[in-house]
Amino acid sequence: MPDAVSHFPAPYQELFHKVEHGLRNRLRYGIPQDPLTIGFPRTPDPEAKQKLMSIAEEVRECRACELGDIRRDRYGKAVPGAGPAQARVMIVGEAPGHYEESLRDKRAMGFGMPFVGPSGKLLDKILESIQLQRQDVHIGNVCCCRPPKNRDPYVAEIDACLPYLYRKIEIVQPWVIIAMGRFAAQVLCEGAHRGEAVGDLLGKLHPYVHDARIKVWPMKHPAYLLHQARGMVGYYEEMLIIGAAIKKAMETLENPNQCRPFELP
Ligand code: URA
Repeated sequence: MPDAVSHFPAPYQELFHKVEHGLRNRLRYGIPQDPLTIGFPRTPDPEAKQKLMSIAEEVRECRACELGDIRRDRYGKAVPGAGPAQARVMIVGEAPGHYEESLRDKRAMGFGMPFVGPSGKLLDKILESIQLQRQDVHIGNVCCCRPPKNRDPYVAEIDACLPYLYRKIEIVQPWVIIAMGRFAAQVLCEGAHRGEAVGDLLGKLHPYVHDARIKVWPMKHPAYLLHQARGMVGYYEEMLIIGAAIKKAMETLENPNQCRPFELP
């Protein structure tokens, strides 16, 4: 069993054994025989924080689609994303909901925060299970404004907001992006198309559409688990795979800005 796993609580270690067995057989997850490497030396950007802040200000004033005006009419907040400016792991969801856009927290400087509602609480627990904390990851969404009544974002709204997400990814330079739900998976995985079901993309790392060094790990949206608790075990299994890979990579760090490539366990 890889060392990275000994950090996990006992029940997860057992689960990991099973996952490892599945991986060895390459049946369930369809991971190619040749190990995929993820992780690369990053160019530290001393101005990353400032650049993200100026994108956030642009988002606040954005008029690229009607969601911005709807939000302002409702006195809702823009949710441009949160987390370290150069995190190794990035999480991208769909769009903020009621809790995210109405957050009152001085530290958020007048913005909302992604994943602070019920899905967010679940996400925190999932992250905890792989020994990651919210402050270790950069969290964003495909759309930065809440669609009315939490409906799915329209294609035009996604297209209007995507340049912000792509610019943020270029600044953050994560090793791996966990794409939560189909909208995130469709716009981040190379070769994926709009309308593609997340189920077709699950279970393997995909190159990020604008930089093949960055890998994307698609997952179902945590909101799915709120309605389908039975899916939880499989969900944790997947999270453990990526969690173990991240942990292993962290352990190979020689200095904070350089790493050796790492592989899926
Ligand atoms: N769901 C999302 O996709 N993003 C959020 O920020 C909150 C809920």
